[in-house]
Formats: sequence, C-alpha cells, structure tokens
Amino acid sequence: MIEKRQFYINGEWVDPKDGRDHEVIDPSTEEACAVISLGGQADVDAAVAAAKAAFPGWMATPPEERIAIVEKFLEIYQSRAEDIAQAVSTEMGAPIDLARTAQVGAGLGHTKNFLKAAKEFDFNRPLSEKFSDTRIVYEAVGVCALITPWNWPLNQISLKVIAAAIAGCTMILKPSEESPLDAMVFAECMDAAGFPKGVFNLVNGDGAGVGSALTTHKDVDMVSFTGSTRAGIQISKAAADSLKRVHLELGGKGANVVFEDADDAAIKRGVMHMMNNSGQSCNAPSRMLVQKGIYDKAVETAAEVAKSVKVASAHEEGKHIGPVVNKTQFDKIQALIQKGIDEGAKLVAGGTGRPEGLNRGFFVKPTVFADVNNQMTIAREEIFGPVLTIIPFDTEEDAVEIANDTPYGLTNYVQTQDGDRANRMSLKLRSGMVEMNGKPRGPGAPFGGMKQSGNGREAGVWGLEDFMEVKAISGWTV
Ligand code: NAD
Repeated sequence: MIEKRQFYINGEWVDPKDGRDHEVIDPSTEEACAVISLGGQADVDAAVAAAKAAFPGWMATPPEERIAIVEKFLEIYQSRAEDIAQAVSTEMGAPIDLARTAQVGAGLGHTKNFLKAAKEFDFNRPLSEKFSDTRIVYEAVGVCALITPWNWPLNQISLKVIAAAIAGCTMILKPSEESPLDAMVFAECMDAAGFPKGVFNLVNGDGAGVGSALTTHKDVDMVSFTGSTRAGIQISKAAADSLKRVHLELGGKGANVVFEDADDAAIKRGVMHMMNNSGQSCNAPSRMLVQKGIYDKAVETAAEVAKSVKVASAHEEGKHIGPVVNKTQFDKIQALIQKGIDEGAKLVAGGTGRPEGLNRGFFVKPTVFADVNNQMTIAREEIFGPVLTIIPFDTEEDAVEIANDTPYGLTNYVQTQDGDRANRMSLKLRSGMVEMNGKPRGPGAPFGGMKQSGNGREAGVWGLEDFMEVKAISGWTV
C-alpha cells in the first residue's frame, strides 16, 4: 500500500507534527489503496508561517518571473500526466481514460489560459489618459488557504494554485481527504518547478481539523473554497471573525431547457452530460426541462440512452462511467433514488441497488426519473450521482420560472434552434453560466455561480483578479 504521510511545507516534505493516519479507499474495489496523514493545528501553523514569511518577496517579484516559473511547472505537470491520472482514477473513481483526458486536461488547460491572461494583464496602469497620475495597481491579496473537493480535483487545484501564484499570493493547499494523492503529485510538480520556499505549501486534513484551522487562522488573508454549500456556509461563518476575503464555488442544480425545436442530438447530449464523471459535477444538467410537444419521445430516448451507459471499474480502459467516490455518497444517492420513487416520480431507467454483475465497489445504476415536478426532493437537492430528473413544461415563461426556482445558480443549459429565443433565455436564467446547444465556453471564460452556488469567478483573467486587491494611487510621477 502507498504510504504518503508527509506534508509539503516551506519547500520540503516534512513529517506531520500533529497527524493521524487516514486510509484512502479505492471506490472501484472498496479496498484501502493508500495511507496519508490528517494534520492538525501545529501543521497548519507551520505552513501559514512559511507562507507569511514568503509573501513579501513573492509579491514583489516581477510578474514575468512568476510567469516563467509557472511555465516550467506546466512542462513538469505534462511529464507527470500519467501519474496524476492513475492517482485520480484510483482515489476518486474516474475511469482511467476520463482521468487521462478531461481530469488531467483541466489542469493543463487552466494553467495555459492563466499564462495567456497574465501575459496580457496590466498589473500597473493609469486610470485614464487624462488622469494618468492616478495609478491603478493590482496587488496580491496575501496568504491564501485553498480548500478543494475530490470530484474534478486537478480542475479545482489548478484554478486556485496557479492563479494565486501568478497573482503573487502565497498559499496553503488543503485538498480533499478523499483525493489527496493527485494533489501530492501536483505538489511534487510545484517543488520541481522551483517556486521560492514557502510560496506553495500542502497540508492534508479533513474539514473539521485542517479546514477549520485554516479558515480561522489570523494570518490567512483569503480563503478560496470549492465544495458543498453546507461547508461554504460554515467557512463563511468561520472566516467572519477575522474578516477574511472568502471566495466560494459551491453546489448546483442546473436546468437543461429543451424546446420542441431542439436539435436531434439534444436529449442524448443532455443525458450523457449528466452521467459524465458518474454525475459528480457541480455544473451537471440534472434537471431536464422538456417542452410538452416532444415530452413522451424525449423520455423514451433519455431512458434508452441511460440504459446504454456502461458502468465498470475505473481501472478498466474504455468509455464507461466508474463508481461514485465513497460509501457516504453511495448511500446518499440510493436514499435519494428511493425518495424519488416514494414521492411519485416515474422511474424509467436504473433505480436502487448496484448495476448487474457488480457486487463490490460504489457503483450506481444510471437512473432517469420522468414526470418530476420541481418541488420534489430529487428536483431540489444536489444528488451528485448519475441520476437525471425530467420535468415537463409548456411555455418559455414556464421554463424560466421552473429553471430559476432553485437556491442554486451555477450553470443552466438551453436547447433550441431559434437563435433569438436562445439569447433571450440566456439573459433570463439566473446563473453564472449558460451553455447553449452543446457549445462549450471559450478558453479563459470565467467559471462561477450566483445565489447559493457561490461568489467570485475562477479561470482566465477573472480568476487572476480574484486573488488581487485593487490599489488606487494618486500623484504618481509620470
Ligand atoms: P465538501 O464541502 O464536503 O468538501 C470540500 C472540501 O472542503 C474538502 O477539502 C473538505 O475537507 C473541506 N471541508 C469540509 N468542511 C469544511 C469546513 N467546515 N471547513 C473547512 N473545510 C471544510 O464537498 P465535496 O463532497 O468534497 O465536494 C462535492 C461538492 O463540491 C458538491 O456540492 C459540488 O457541487 C461542489 N463543487 C462545486 C464546484 C464549483 O465550482 N461550483 C466544483 C466542484 C464541486
């Protein structure tokens, strides 16, 4: 079994001061695959002290130097891609091909986009031509605590670490205790890239221990958190006493509005998107709203597509979905599927229990419920599993009302071949992102939510700005 108990603090791998053992479970087998250490206050204090000491020097480094080190990091990250993919696949259950492409690729893509944005960014600029002696300076926020989840681990780690590093912040990363191994390979890449000691630190731990030690620490200036809305609320409260800046990327319950004139592939695309990563995506299109004229056909197609989705071990190559991350998630998803049945939704694919032939591992049947109404539990709660709910609607106004009737506001989706209607819808939907007709956002576009899906934006130039203070200086000698 892999033993990785050390933390990365002040430029070296060190033994925990306050650690206890924690087994990392492979969700495909339910066997322990590694043992790590969950740290405590003394480890957090050491990491924060290192980050605090490194801050003045790193903040004052010319941006070109910070960019050059990130470029070096990118090369190293690419050379370690297979190690990262194996770690992700083993610890959180993404099928190995998905881990090699989308999971590892997210880290690669975000880093490249940050580099591009940083090269075009003016960290020190005049207010205007007329008032050129007023200077607007973008300055690093300070010591940042970066707390990440397990579902797209490299996506979230790179969105925070690389942006913070380019901005001139120093940091302590606390990855999810469910997915610490990929983060430790990431830390090895940071080490090899040659960041000055103390700029980047990693302490493993759980939310109650290292998580809250970071969010209440007097020397932490900012917390950037991605995870559940539950934890986001706790973190906001914990950080309030010291008035830290808090950036939150939380849960979602996206609507995918399918109009009668949607393209032929819209239903299949929506189901496959929902099932991707076993439904464990904050931006999953989990409520499919279908216009009545095509409703019956759409339900039939969605059920067929879900039944065709193969479920298998994350270690197997090929196109399938893997298990969900752990027993807690498995049990929660099973209970929500049962709740859907009990509340009267029509089960048209999947259901409770493991898929046939899989007796071990946290495997869930790709499940579709039809005839759901937006007040049912399965339409309100984030299930975070391969479970799609289908809700009928009549008019465009109805669709907007149902889509917006949720505490969340991360990503909504629209499927229609009427361009005017699509544009109209995109402006009425209350979410940080609207994705239409399967078209992905361009590289460097911002990612983030409204309402209880969070605040702030990650990726591209918006992601860099999130880690910077804006300073206004008058009387600048021009
Ligand atoms: P989680 O909230 O349980 O844990 C996320 C991280 O926070 C982990 O590192 C955990 O140890 C830590 N943590 C938990 N409680 C804490 C506390 N009180 N103080 C400090 N740290 C704490 O979430 P999860 O189960 O790992 O991830 C799934 C959730 O993340 C889903 O709700 C999903 O929607 C959300 N998510 C959001 C985005 C986004 O960008 N909006 C992206 C991915 C995942």
